[in-house]
Amino acid sequence: MGAAAPAQHCGPVRVAASGTVDSGPAQAGLVMSELTDFEHGITAVDTHYVRPQLDASHLIRHAGRAAFVDTGTTLSVPYLLAALEARGVAREAVDWVFLTHIHLDHAGGAGALLEALPNARAVVHPRGAAHLVDPTILIAATRQVYGDALYERLYGEIRPIPTERLVITRDGTELALAGRVFRFLHTPGHALHHHVIHDPLADAVFSGDTFGIAYRELDVAGRPFLMPTTTPTQFDAVQLHASIDRVLALRPAAVFLTHYSRVTDIVRLGVELHAALDAYVGFAESHAADPDPVAGIVADMTAWAWNELDARGHRADEATRQALLADDIRLNADGLVAWLARRKS
Ligand SMILES: [Zn+2]
Repeated sequence: MGAAAPAQHCGPVRVAASGTVDSGPAQAGLVMSELTDFEHGITAVDTHYVRPQLDASHLIRHAGRAAFVDTGTTLSVPYLLAALEARGVAREAVDWVFLTHIHLDHAGGAGALLEALPNARAVVHPRGAAHLVDPTILIAATRQVYGDALYERLYGEIRPIPTERLVITRDGTELALAGRVFRFLHTPGHALHHHVIHDPLADAVFSGDTFGIAYRELDVAGRPFLMPTTTPTQFDAVQLHASIDRVLALRPAAVFLTHYSRVTDIVRLGVELHAALDAYVGFAESHAADPDPVAGIVADMTAWAWNELDARGHRADEATRQALLADDIRLNADGLVAWLARRKS
C-alpha cells in the first residue's frame, strides 16, 4: 500500500469500549511476569496488552543465546526484561527480536526493547522496515484512530529503530540462534508486511496473526476456538487462504500464536480456519449491496461464532461472549468491507 500507514493493530481494542486498561508497570524492578514454559526453550510472556492472555511475546532460549518473537507495545518492554531476568538470561545474550509484522501489539515495543538489548537486531518484512525506522506515520495514524489519551495508555512512546539494527527478510531467509536455524516465510493475507517463522528444531511455527486468534478463555477441554483476523486495511482472503496453507505445508506439531501462544492438532485447526474464512467471505458477499454492510456482517459473524461455541460445548453466557468477541467481530467486518471495495475497484 505504498507510503500509506498500515493498520495500527490486528484487532483487539476492547479497551476502547470499557475504558479500562493496565496502566503499565510503575517500576521495572517490581514487575511480575506471567510466563508459560514449553519444550525447546520456548516461553510465552504475557505482554499485558489490554487483558491477560491476549497478547504474547515468545522468548526462545538456545545454547546460551536468546531471541524474542514479537514484543507487545512499548509498555510491554519491562515485562519482557523481567522475563529475561526470571529465566536467567543476560540482556547481552539476546541476538534477535523477530517481528511477525509491524502492527503495534506485535512490534510497537521493538524500538524500546532494542535500546535495552545491546546485541540484538530486529528482523522484519521488507514492507514493514521503513515504518520501524521512522514511525511518524504509524504514530500519527494510530493517534488519529484512538485519540491522544488512549493512544498513550495503550501504546506508550514508539521509539525508532536505527537502520543498522534491522534485518530485512526475503521469502525463505534463514537466521540462526547459536546454530538453531529459523526460516522466514512471507505470508500476506492479514497484512502485506507479515512473515511467519518456522522453527524446525521445535517442529513449530510462530504465526503472528496468520493462523488466527485463539481466545483462550473460550478453550473447551484444551481445544481452542480460533477466528481468522481480517482487520483493515490490508486483509485479503485469497492471500490468507494461501498463507494458512503455507503454514500447514510445514506440517508443524505446534503453532505459537501471538494471541495467544501454543496450539496443537494443527491439521484440524487448519480445516477450521479455512472454513471460517470461507464463512466470513460469504457474509461479506451477501451484504455487499446493503446500505450498512458492516451491521449485516457483524450479525452473521456473531451468529456463526455463537454456533461454533455451542457446538464445542462452550457454556459462556451472552455477556461473556460479547465482551471477548464483539469488538474483534466489528473490526473483522470492517476489514472484509474494505477488502470487497478494493476487490471491486
Ligand atoms: Zn495481533
